[in-house]
Amino acid sequence: MSDTQIFDRVAIIGIGLIGSSVALALRANGLAGHVACHDADADVRARADALDIVDSMHADIAGAVDGADLVVVATPVGACGAVAEAMGAHLKPGAIVTDVGSVKGSVITAMTPHIPEGVHLVPGHPVAGTEHSGPESGFADLFQNRFSILTPPPGANADAVATLSRLWQGMGSDVEVMDAEHHDRVLAITSHLPHLIAYTIVGTAADLETELEAQPRDDEVVTTREVIKYSAGGFRDFTRIAASDPVMWRDVFLLNKDAVLEMVGRFTEDMTALQSAIHDDDGDALFELFSRTRDIRRGVIEARQAGRFQYTENGKQSDDDGEEGDA
Ligand code: NAP
Repeated sequence: MSDTQIFDRVAIIGIGLIGSSVALALRANGLAGHVACHDADADVRARADALDIVDSMHADIAGAVDGADLVVVATPVGACGAVAEAMGAHLKPGAIVTDVGSVKGSVITAMTPHIPEGVHLVPGHPVAGTEHSGPESGFADLFQNRFSILTPPPGANADAVATLSRLWQGMGSDVEVMDAEHHDRVLAITSHLPHLIAYTIVGTAADLETELEAQPRDDEVVTTREVIKYSAGGFRDFTRIAASDPVMWRDVFLLNKDAVLEMVGRFTEDMTALQSAIHDDDGDALFELFSRTRDIRRGVIEARQAGRFQYTENGKQSDDDGEEGDA
């Protein structure tokens, strides 16, 4: 047993980008004696096996969680309730159950009824990721210098929260503890709304292209090739974010509905104000906003949350920060 080991046996449920990164980070930092895994998808299980990133792979969830001191649920958030239900009866007394989902309130609601007495549910969210999916996309230092947020429900076991905090710190994260509702409002503006904007812009550009192509005047035709060709500007960054996993993001928007809709409302008001400033030739208003936002970018860089990840793991070269907007 290494002197950095925190858990004898960890089970990871769902071995995509985040699950595989957790597996690799546990191994790289000697944090677990044995890492077991279950994924619902036989093809994903075979691919993860071929990558040799876990110690045992299980077709059934009961086999994976059997004897586990920690279970990390790394499926799309919409599956967390069903996963908790399937594994609940097989959890070891005293075990910690956590997840990595981008939404916390609805995950807690879905999982809690299936967690037996004596098992500690401490939901979490590593604010780190990329637009890639699947076990091939994971890498051991994904969580390095990133925040991992824990959202223990009221009355959660303090030792379990402390142990899980040590685990995330062992994988390189700075740990923050907050309540689930606060998490969901903060992430709605910092991650979920930016993704919604990216999906909208890329969708609008695609629709516009189709409309313009249908027009008879050749000089106004914008072809698909032109959108790709001239996408060196801001559009390219939006296409990267809009390439994020459709299942994951469908679940995020449906399960953080209230907070996202609140932020969309605020955003729409501010967009309308900008529209008026442009319409009214109000250059001062535009300049004032753009100066303020430039300062915010500097603050993000100073907080070490951007400009670091020019990573090349698995041949994936990121366009800029290497983050997907941090689901
Ligand atoms: P991913 O690469 O698509 O991996 C998810 C894996 O879970 C897939 O292999 C999926 O199989 C499997 N799965 C789905 N339902 C399952 C079930 N009921 N039981 C067992 N396995 C199941 O997704 P990811 O990007 O790692 O995201 C996983 C979680 O991390 C999500 O909750 C997301 O909100 C959160 N997160 C993501 C990021 C990010 O940047 N991607 C960042 C922070 C947090 P199939 O593909 O065959 O369905």
